Amino acid sequence: MSIKCRFCRKAVIYPEQRLCVDHLSKFIEKRVDKVLGKVLGLEEKKILVTVSGGKDSTGLAHIMALRDLNMELLYLNLGIPTYSDASQKVVEDFAKARKLKLNIITLNDYGFTVKDFHEKQEEFRSNTCSLCGSAKRYLFNKFAFENGFDFIVTAHNLDDFASFAVMGISSGDLRYISKTASVSWPKKEQKTVGRIRPYFHVPEKASLIYSLSNNIPFFEGDCEYVGGNKQGDIKTRVAELERVAPGFRQHLVKFTRKSGTPETTAPKSCDSCGYPSAIDSCRFCRIKERLR
Ligand SMILES: [Zn+2]
Ligand SMILES: [Zn+2]
Repeated sequence: MSIKCRFCRKAVIYPEQRLCVDHLSKFIEKRVDKVLGKVLGLEEKKILVTVSGGKDSTGLAHIMALRDLNMELLYLNLGIPTYSDASQKVVEDFAKARKLKLNIITLNDYGFTVKDFHEKQEEFRSNTCSLCGSAKRYLFNKFAFENGFDFIVTAHNLDDFASFAVMGISSGDLRYISKTASVSWPKKEQKTVGRIRPYFHVPEKASLIYSLSNNIPFFEGDCEYVGGNKQGDIKTRVAELERVAPGFRQHLVKFTRKSGTPETTAPKSCDSCGYPSAIDSCRFCRIKERLR
């Protein structure tokens, strides 16, 4: 006999919470709305939803599009040969089907691609995913700021945040994760738009099953540079720990956030571009300079 949903008699598709297809949707949408509800007057704000074409971002954009919001989509083409053009096509079709405005920017407009820094990652003493993450954060903020958006929405999920926490602990650097919350507020004077992370409490597996069961199109390929990526390995281990000790991810993120030290000095702004930077030149400008 198949297991029944804990709220109704339908078959379970998400065993972790014993939920059927309808109640899994309710479970996710409730979590998303809880985060969105933190921003008062959200309907009047201009919102930019970043979409990579993966299961999390298209699933989240689908939920957001059902709300009455002033939102547009942003796709960043990173110039990854086996990944970027295919995922861009998924996003274009997705936006067209839902009549959503899609903005597309390309990393190559700045004179380099992910392939370029992948080939020089030794020289940068950093891995490709970390460099790529910096470039994304920078360009999302720059585009949003220059185009008058109040908030950027990203689809990082609970497993992502738990992995960031482990990465922070393992490197002894809690700066990033301790500042990460489901909502960060805009700081116009620092040229920083706000961030909303509606999947903050949504487990990765729930997001995957949601997108599959609601027939939301997404790009399934992996980035070719992901191999040997520490974060990917950590994410697998985090999922294993969650199975052994349910609630692990949620608690880890909570404890890590609490252990961060408050910022005492205001961030500087980059000498070349004017966007926030811990030192004279921001990481994006340094990458750009070195690859020139
Ligand atoms: Zn049900
Ligand atoms: Zn800069």
